Amino acid sequence: MNILVINCGSSSLKYQLINMEDESILAKGLAERIGIEGARVKHETTGKEEVVIEDTMDDHKAALKIVLDSIAHKEYGAVADLSEINAVGHRVVHGGEDFAESVVIDDAVMKAINDNVEIAPLHNPPNIMGIDAIKEILPEVPMVAVFDTAFHQTIPAVNHIYPLPYEYYEKYKVRRFGFHGTSHQYITERAAEILGKDLSEVNLVTCHLGNGSSISAIVGGKCYDTTMGFTPLEGLAMGTRSGDIDPAIIPFIMEKENLSTEEMSNVLNKKSGVLGISGVSSDFRDLEVAAKEGNDRAQLALDIFENRVRKYIGAFLSEMDHCDGIIFTAGVGENSITTRENVAKGLKAFGIKVDDEKNNVRGKEAIFSTEDSAIKLLVIPTNEELKIAKETQRLIAK
Ligand code: AMP
Repeated sequence: MNILVINCGSSSLKYQLINMEDESILAKGLAERIGIEGARVKHETTGKEEVVIEDTMDDHKAALKIVLDSIAHKEYGAVADLSEINAVGHRVVHGGEDFAESVVIDDAVMKAINDNVEIAPLHNPPNIMGIDAIKEILPEVPMVAVFDTAFHQTIPAVNHIYPLPYEYYEKYKVRRFGFHGTSHQYITERAAEILGKDLSEVNLVTCHLGNGSSISAIVGGKCYDTTMGFTPLEGLAMGTRSGDIDPAIIPFIMEKENLSTEEMSNVLNKKSGVLGISGVSSDFRDLEVAAKEGNDRAQLALDIFENRVRKYIGAFLSEMDHCDGIIFTAGVGENSITTRENVAKGLKAFGIKVDDEKNNVRGKEAIFSTEDSAIKLLVIPTNEELKIAKETQRLIAK
């Protein structure tokens, strides 16, 4: 069975075609600048050279047509015919309170995803465009929606209700939803396998550290708490997002700088985080280089990022009676040896000890704590696409 996994952003579309017999990637690629001048699709069939197709793409449907043509292309394609795509799995950012699990897409599901646009105005519309486009181009193919928020629906009220007037939750669903759920779930399940524990018995702190970052507390294999909130802005300092700040700063700066709500939201989402602190870059590799060259603010940005990761790990350890492992994943978590080292070395009070040699890995599964560390430290590369494909296969087999 071949499953096409689709992840639509506002002007981009990432895809992977996965052969579920051996979980191998048959083809993958990215359509970018959809609806903008200079649109292109970068497509790569495994074992063949990458091709770049430059063409106008007015919308996601136009982009998908080029993607599907590429997948079934005579020279650089991965399959002889589109009938070899058996199902499509869509990443959908916000399932709100309606979805605690992935679902086969039907009209009722589409209505619920549309209803959630109000609380995810930036994220759900492109996901809906991707689903509608596939429905038009491949009407017979079953589709599954896998939600970023679903894994976090087990978070109890004690962690999902904000200390605000309760009516805002009742009227507007203002509550913690959490994001990156597919990634946290994938590494949770993988960690249980690696640690040889039953999923229902495993307690973890999972750290998804990338351009966007979040940490989750996993108790008995289920999500108990997470750092992202009503939107993906809360929690850690990120590439360009502020994470936690005193909310009183917002009206103060709006008044001082004469900013509209949209402009302030843009500052918090696009101009803050490690980019805002350093003034150098949102990219952690650039920051590590700048800090080594003596740029103090780049170093400060890295220090603040690491310190917040440590603070949340400490907070989440206080929410469980024991912890089997602290897991690092995503671009920074999988690849930055120094970030992992600095975070873990600050956790000595918990009896956590790093093995420097074992920590010398990038992008590979590894246990990098010492034998006598009180809690194991693990690197587990995330694989959201594979998780979406597995969910799709599971649901359409029903
Ligand atoms: P993601 O959002 O998961 O794709 O992660 C992207 C982030 O990972 C970027 O800020 C990259 O700079 C960072 N990253 C990737 N490789 C490395 C590395 N070798 N060292 C430090 N950061 C890295």
